[in-house]
Amino acid sequence: MSYIRGGTNLFALISSRKELKRELKFLISKANLFKGIKEFKLTIEPNINFIDRILREKVYRIDVQFFACRNPSLIKKMEKIENRILNGSLDFAVGKKRLIRTEGYLFGYPSCCVQKYIAGKEGFPSETSLIMEMIETGEFNRLIKSLDKNRVEPFHYLFTSNFYPCSTDCRRANKIGERVEKWLSRIDEKYAEIFEMRTMINALYNLCTAYTAHEVGSSEILNKTLNSFFRKLDAKWKNLIKDIRPQIRDLTAFTNSFIRRIYVDSQKS
Ligand SMILES: [Zn+2]
Repeated sequence: MSYIRGGTNLFALISSRKELKRELKFLISKANLFKGIKEFKLTIEPNINFIDRILREKVYRIDVQFFACRNPSLIKKMEKIENRILNGSLDFAVGKKRLIRTEGYLFGYPSCCVQKYIAGKEGFPSETSLIMEMIETGEFNRLIKSLDKNRVEPFHYLFTSNFYPCSTDCRRANKIGERVEKWLSRIDEKYAEIFEMRTMINALYNLCTAYTAHEVGSSEILNKTLNSFFRKLDAKWKNLIKDIRPQIRDLTAFTNSFIRRIYVDSQKS
């Protein structure tokens, strides 16, 4: 913040980031999670960034990420791009696109989905087009049906949170979800089911976002589709959406506590 206001120079900002990263690395090495992650031959690498990747506008925001990865050197590439944006040798918009592309690559996202996400920053947002598609292809109906029957069903293309596939039937995105599930099932069948549950919660999160968009009614293109979908939806589901909406906003915390309640707490009692 001090850098953005002009109180700190770039050199001080970069060196304070280095220092913070060193401290974080030390704390990680002491954590229990670190030992667990080592079993998977992965390491945890902290990354501190200053350029917002989510909003359309030019926004500086400090964000700390932790990568569970095999090769931490790839993360350095993002730091270099950020430094170039900060020192003015790379245009903000061009640099931001490069950051999103690099981050997408690091996360193992399909390039078609990353490309659509980048294009959505200037045109029709990929969040919105995914919601429309989930209504039109009956994916939200599939979710509601499975919730109604207490059945766990996978939404493979939603294999992780904050990822927007280029389409619900993106072959590459679905394949990733299927592979993750298969890999987990080899360790324990229960993990595969938990993964499926996670993808369902991601779908539920999109449904909540759709309901908010419907209430706000800000987008004319969306209104018709949203209105006809929510008009037909049983009040019981609308109430459920309203109940969980404040909590699901923090998707990771919500998902973890939901899964803990079902798979851990219920087994103790
Ligand atoms: Zn795709």
